[in-house]
Amino acid sequence: MDKQYDILVIGGGPGGTPAAMALAQAGKKVLLVEAGTGLGGTCLFEGCIPSKIFHETARRLRDITRAAEFGIRLPTELVQLDWRKVQARKREILQRRSGAAINRVAQIKTLDLLFGHAQLQGTRQAEIQPHEGEPFTLHFEQCILATGSRPNRLPVHGADLPRVFSSDAILDIECIPEYLTVIGGGPIGVELAQVFRALGANVTLLERGPRILSGVDEELARLLEQHLIVQGITLQLNVSVKTICHTGKGLFVQYDLAEGGCDQSFATAVLTAAGRHAHIDGLGLETTAISATPHGITVDEALQTTEPGIYAVGDVAGQPMFAHWATAQGLALARHLLGQSAPFPQPMHNSAVIFSTPELAMAGLTEEQAKAAGMDVAVARYDFSQDARAQIGGHDSGLLKIVYNTLDRKIIGVHALVDGAANLMGEAALLVHAGLPLEAIAAAIHPHPTLTESFAQAARVALAAHGPVGH
Ligand code: FAD
Repeated sequence: MDKQYDILVIGGGPGGTPAAMALAQAGKKVLLVEAGTGLGGTCLFEGCIPSKIFHETARRLRDITRAAEFGIRLPTELVQLDWRKVQARKREILQRRSGAAINRVAQIKTLDLLFGHAQLQGTRQAEIQPHEGEPFTLHFEQCILATGSRPNRLPVHGADLPRVFSSDAILDIECIPEYLTVIGGGPIGVELAQVFRALGANVTLLERGPRILSGVDEELARLLEQHLIVQGITLQLNVSVKTICHTGKGLFVQYDLAEGGCDQSFATAVLTAAGRHAHIDGLGLETTAISATPHGITVDEALQTTEPGIYAVGDVAGQPMFAHWATAQGLALARHLLGQSAPFPQPMHNSAVIFSTPELAMAGLTEEQAKAAGMDVAVARYDFSQDARAQIGGHDSGLLKIVYNTLDRKIIGVHALVDGAANLMGEAALLVHAGLPLEAIAAAIHPHPTLTESFAQAARVALAAHGPVGH
């Protein structure tokens, strides 16, 4: 039997779920279809949350090994990692979070949640195949595609060998590998390389480009490279992986070097973290006028696809691929569809945290991006080696960079590499979004001793150097 809804939302991740909830809370009749068996998408099941659960275990293990520095005597040689317990804790948190999301959705009368697969069939209808029950045709007025992204397959021989893991698969690994080679120095590769290193693996990180974390402030990325090396990670830049082959003992990842010649890295497990692509397989786009590239579904400034009435949010619409970005887009789109005038999120106001060690966090544009956009900018800096909170925490190295417009001193970007940088980004995002000037941060009273004092300090030094606005 056919069914009719005002809005069909395909994908129950951080993009689709908040959009579906906001629309239904405003009285729309909404169906949210999720192909998995829980609610939360990649972020909850294969992304942000499981990787940060491992990051937290790694952080605590690292802290224990440094206990003596803080005057705590521990028999550190007796400390052991119980990986099965870590995995069990992960599963428990995932289930708890998914269950809570399902309960929140269930409380909204005009929102139906169905676990199954949705496929568009033309401009105003979709075929729904529930995991349990009969398939049916659904008619809708509007549709939101929020189907996320998938890991890229590395186009090299041996990428499908056993013990070559994608970022999804490695999160379920049954034990810490003795030798791990990570292919790809983006956020996912860097985070997981450091986590597995802290948990005891010998890690080699291979990156095709001349630096890790392209797109991130180069000076901070270079400083982080030094931390990777000090932590015992073998970092190889400018390499091109050619093949992965199996031997009796493990795997060899063979690669060409930019300066000529080749080399190889031995591994008992390989992680390929070579980017992600929009998840559009089986979505029925060919039955519509929706155009898409491997980078994502094409959308206009109101997130409408090339098929009127069908919209796309989050990873499936391309970069940037972050959970909070997907949510911001989903909520802005919901307001738009409800006829409320509200701005759509702009990439130049986005914020992000790379949960590296130390954390690398950012809001707004880098100095290079601002200059490329034709802006006249300068940078206020703060060195955390002199910072009270950083010294107390035993992480007294790092750098804050505040990018500001030299004409009106408005803040365009904030970038920090320091343990605890993630917690600075709430203020940073507000500064960038509101376009506040350096004077506003300098005047705000920041509590002592906290890392946030760095904002006011950097602003005061820059203002003292430049004099009043206009100079
Ligand atoms: P997704 O979360 O991918 O959700 C899409 C959903 O659509 C999925 O549940 C899928 O099952 C469903 N679906 C797909 N096709 C269909 C269909 N045809 N019918 C029905 N349902 C369908 N971001 C951060 O902000 N912070 C982090 O720390 C962070 N860490 C990450 C770590 C890793 C290892 C990875 C891989 C990603 C990380 N991300 C992080 C990125 C973040 O997970 C994504 O940006 C976010 O999940 C995108 O949300 P989304 O709603 O667009 O898509």
